[in-house]
Amino acid sequence: MAIQRPKGTQDLLPGIIEQWQYLEETIRSVCREYGYEEIRTPMFEATELFQRGVGQTTDIVKKEMYTFQDKGDRSMTLRPELTASVCRAYVEDKLYGQPQPVKLYYIGPMFRYERPQSGRFRQFHQFGVEVLGADQPIVDAEVISLVWNLYKRLGLSGLEVHVNSVGCPVCRARHREQLQEFLISRKKDLCNDCQERFDRNPLRILDCKNPSCQEVTVGAPTTRDTLCEDCSTHFEKVLAILGRAGVVYRVNPRLVRGLDYYTKTAFEVMVEEIGAQSAICGGGRYDKLVEEIGGPATPGIGFAMGIERVLAALQVQNKLPEEKPKQFAMLIALGEKAQIEGFALVTALRSKGMPVGMDLLGRSLKNQLKSANRQGASLAFILGEEELDRNVLVIRDLTSGEQMEVPLNDAVEEIFMKYQRGV
Ligand code: ATP
Ligand code: MG
Repeated sequence: MAIQRPKGTQDLLPGIIEQWQYLEETIRSVCREYGYEEIRTPMFEATELFQRGVGQTTDIVKKEMYTFQDKGDRSMTLRPELTASVCRAYVEDKLYGQPQPVKLYYIGPMFRYERPQSGRFRQFHQFGVEVLGADQPIVDAEVISLVWNLYKRLGLSGLEVHVNSVGCPVCRARHREQLQEFLISRKKDLCNDCQERFDRNPLRILDCKNPSCQEVTVGAPTTRDTLCEDCSTHFEKVLAILGRAGVVYRVNPRLVRGLDYYTKTAFEVMVEEIGAQSAICGGGRYDKLVEEIGGPATPGIGFAMGIERVLAALQVQNKLPEEKPKQFAMLIALGEKAQIEGFALVTALRSKGMPVGMDLLGRSLKNQLKSANRQGASLAFILGEEELDRNVLVIRDLTSGEQMEVPLNDAVEEIFMKYQRGV
């Protein structure tokens, strides 16, 4: 049997890839407007980076990582997310020595060993941003508004921006106590994972997708109820700045990011229409993370957005741009000599930046014309033995059928002028 691609991966073929390019270009222009610069880090890192940076108790580290020993017997992991890598680069490449804050974005593949299903892949792609070195509420607002503006630029509607504050280690200790007190009598109704979380990290129980756990936690004390003054003021300021800027959000006290190095603002964007996997973006502040991986104490905030899920939303809402014709013009050459001359002409036009195609299969005139039409060309340049003898090139307008002749020696200039005029 022919070899197949691994489960949970995709081949992105022409016809689809244009959608990806459109989305990526839109992302890049919004990032440019907000002053974020691109960072590219390795596809794999030392396993320890993700154990520390994502957290031992998360699903990602517990069951989803692609980990392997390399030939030097080091444990390596294909990156399951990029926040930890970006923080590593911030420390290793001494970005803390540059003017702060450092505002970065990335687009690229991530790898998680998950059960493949609609909207869930083993190699998927994320766009994300990270801002390091600034702790002001306005930074949180900027990051959320970047997401908001991107969705508006893409023409998406019906998105819900959920925001919450998970507080800092001080208020979280208080919340933890109250939460355990609330849950203790109903601990047996929690799923196995949550029973385990009860002592280690009860906050994450609020985030469990299991319906019985969700029922148990109805009315549980939220992080917002226990915020200290500093965290509470920070959160109110974020909300005020967002509101004034026209970002529509909903405070969702159940939204959490359950690790010690996540602090204050947490947010998520959902869109119902794309099915069960409705979260298209998740993010938040992580003021303790850079320290956790061995760097200087540095506040940070960011988000990661699932590219496949944004494309799914664009698809359902019919917001993907129409495909454009691929070729502007085709050269049609008949005979070996004409092919050589034609190839030189096409090469000269291409080097000026004009897209031109030509036959590569030795087809007949009729079939070359057919193929030019199929590829959406609006012009054909025809060069046969007879044209060569007379030193001319025929230019045919494929829409109107009109044609004219130009001297072969002037053809490149003539055609290029036409191209620039858009005819
Ligand atoms: P989920 O609850 O869907 O598993 P998550 O909490 O694991 O999401 P994050 O780690 O916050 O997700 O990643 C941010 C975004 O990346 C998600 O909102 C989602 O859009 C996308 N994403 C995460 N895992 C996958 C996957 N396996 N396939 C496709 N997209 C994914
Ligand atoms: Mg997940």
